[in-house]
Amino acid sequence: MGTGILTIDLDALAANWRALDRLSRGETGAVVKADAYGCGIDRVAPRLAREGARRFFVATAEEGAALRAVLGPGPEINVFSGHMSGDTGLIRDHALTPMLNSPEQAARHRAALPDAPYGVQLDTGMNRLGMEAADWAATRVGLEAGPLTLVMSHLACADEPDRVENAAQLKAFTEMTADVTVPRSFSATGGILMGPDYQFDLTRPGIGLYGGLPYAAAQPVVRLSLPVIQIRDVAQGEFVGYGGGFIAERPTRIATVSAGYADGLIRYMSGVAQLFDGEHVCRLAGRVSMDLLTVDITDLPEPPEHLDILGPQQGVDALAEAAGTIGYEILTSLGPRYQRRYIGG
Ligand SMILES: *Cc1c(COP(=O)(O)O)cnc(C)c1O
Repeated sequence: MGTGILTIDLDALAANWRALDRLSRGETGAVVKADAYGCGIDRVAPRLAREGARRFFVATAEEGAALRAVLGPGPEINVFSGHMSGDTGLIRDHALTPMLNSPEQAARHRAALPDAPYGVQLDTGMNRLGMEAADWAATRVGLEAGPLTLVMSHLACADEPDRVENAAQLKAFTEMTADVTVPRSFSATGGILMGPDYQFDLTRPGIGLYGGLPYAAAQPVVRLSLPVIQIRDVAQGEFVGYGGGFIAERPTRIATVSAGYADGLIRYMSGVAQLFDGEHVCRLAGRVSMDLLTVDITDLPEPPEHLDILGPQQGVDALAEAAGTIGYEILTSLGPRYQRRYIGG
């Protein structure tokens, strides 16, 4: 088989959700946007529902419709982008709950679907999504009179707990929502770890479920094992790959492995990322190509059939560091060509 095998450990995912739930003083939701951070919403969401998650979050109404097909009726599906023009049919037909981000979205939703529930997203300093204090002050009486389910905001710097921006956002959220009677939600993974003051009634973990930082105690969820297509010996002075990006400084054995930047192994990994044969470490030799990696396996005792690029030896954040990015981007870039295998139901 020529494709990589992406193994997703649903038992580890479930353990991460339960651990974050224990850390949260109130209810714990689950963020499953971007196909559950690349792990597959059709397997991830039902497992989290079985663990007890009742409120799910996605980025768009289209993702919400796909999630409803997976979960069936019952769980609340909240849409961060709110009620965009063109979303009314999806929101109604799939019983989605838009997080209204502006007075315009509020007016659109209330006019189109007067009885349909909604949440409100407040901007407390990030300046990305949500109503600012003045918008909220102007619309809140009307919004609180309808089927409002949730008031939420989002931290910009929660992966760096000591940043003063965190306390400033907490103060703003507390002031803006002081006499709100519906549930409040403020924290994603990073905020949960900052303790009860940041948690309010409902938390919204994403990355921590999937084994990424800032939740350092997370169990790893993904393993990516890539098949070796060919092995060759390269003489000292020969080059390997596009642009001659690697030049053999000694007689070198090169394994050509099936996966490349089209599968989310971005070119910035060229020359720096490591692959593993059990505990043995191998370096990428030369540039990442679209479908292939070339790996220096000179020091391996046996020719490998597979090499792992994600797993216990090198998690999503370690690989991200080699590529100059973050674990979130590694996960959400994992391509559709991998064969996805699931551990646990
Ligand atoms: C993506 C996202 C989350 C989840 O964040 P993590 O850092 O992955 O836990 C929560 N809330 C909002 C608004 C988001 O955009």
